[in-house]
Amino acid sequence: MVQKISILGATGSIGDSTLQVIASHPTEFSVSAVTAGHNVELLAEICHRFKPSFAAIADAASYDAFKMAVAGLDIETACGEAGVLAAAAYPADRVMAAITGFSGLRPTLTALENCPIVMLANKECLVAAGSVFMDIAAKHNTTVLPVDSEHNALHQLLVAKSIDDVRHLTLTASGGPFLNMPLDKIGEVTPEMAIKHPVWPMGEKISIDSATMLNKGLELIEAQHLFSVPADKLKVLIHPQSIMHGLLTMHDGSVMAHMGTPDMQIPIAYCMGWPERLNADIAGLDLAAEGELSFLAPDFNRYPCLELAYEAMHAGRGMPTVMNAANEVAVEAFRKAQIGFMDIANLIQVTMSKMMDADISDLEDVFAINEAARRQALDSIPL
Ligand code: NDP
Ligand code: MG
Repeated sequence: MVQKISILGATGSIGDSTLQVIASHPTEFSVSAVTAGHNVELLAEICHRFKPSFAAIADAASYDAFKMAVAGLDIETACGEAGVLAAAAYPADRVMAAITGFSGLRPTLTALENCPIVMLANKECLVAAGSVFMDIAAKHNTTVLPVDSEHNALHQLLVAKSIDDVRHLTLTASGGPFLNMPLDKIGEVTPEMAIKHPVWPMGEKISIDSATMLNKGLELIEAQHLFSVPADKLKVLIHPQSIMHGLLTMHDGSVMAHMGTPDMQIPIAYCMGWPERLNADIAGLDLAAEGELSFLAPDFNRYPCLELAYEAMHAGRGMPTVMNAANEVAVEAFRKAQIGFMDIANLIQVTMSKMMDADISDLEDVFAINEAARRQALDSIPL
């Protein structure tokens, strides 16, 4: 049976990899609904090629241009936040949640409420909404499959195992483009330098998060909720080649690792096929060609954002929501050259210290704290 796949954030990097997996399995998958933020041209191209039944563009000002670009196709269209939510609720067997940032939260929640399987790429929405997010998934009996490569690795490793038998879970990190840069030079890096990731081609926001390693901090909190593990069972290991994605250390001393070429089509194919395996046309791993794999512990002087994320994870309550919001503001300000690279951590730290009482018990709190933390962070620029 052909499975219908909807893609929220179809014009992004994860959206593109998802469409590539679909294109190589034309008898197994079809595209149901797609969304974009602003990119009219690419969304229209996707509609012409993949013939979805529904497409929405978040930017209402681009709607007329989009309708013209898909004129003649048998497709329903919509725009604005309501349009994106309608796409998330459109009938599908699986939804890929790949809108970037907190703005992906409402669409992803709508997908959780309407679709039996949500393939989760957007980590920010899980970090910001935490257990509220997981409770909504549980209430609707929705399976959340992690697309993020490290969590996807751990998901595969945890099959038929109890989390009680695991001593700790390790997420690997490439270390980003500034792993070997002299510490006193990092303050001078430009957005263009931060966006050039050495291993993974990704969207701009996650590339900057990888450079600060706040990305790994988001992933620690993501893992905490996805696998219901206490914060002290989660570790981070730098592994520049990004071949090994996740490790489980068992109580008996055994360590199991998951490996794969750094290509997001691999975790995406796992999520699309689950619980079966797709016969994916993806190059295998050639360890002999790889030669050496190396590992090192993260240095908080180089990656202060990672230390802040550990603090937020241990503090719990509303602190991950605050940290995520402050980071989104900081990354945007860095991209506009309003603050320097190391100021990203400073801005997150200042915002967290001013919002120590933040707590969340429901979705309303999540939106209110996200808004308050954004305002607080914006008020602190320039630092
Ligand atoms: P991109 O920036 O490449 O793509 C983001 C997508 O979201 C685009 O389709 C964009 O539309 C859309 N979008 C952005 N803002 C809005 C908005 N306000 N409303 C509706 N749509 C919007 O990001 P990535 O694909 O790299 O990442 C997507 C998510 O997946 C992120 O949360 C990231 O952390 C996560 N992730 C990504 C990985 C990767 O390898 N790329 C790996 C693991 C996780 P448009 O471009 O048309 O404006
Ligand atoms: Mg990752």
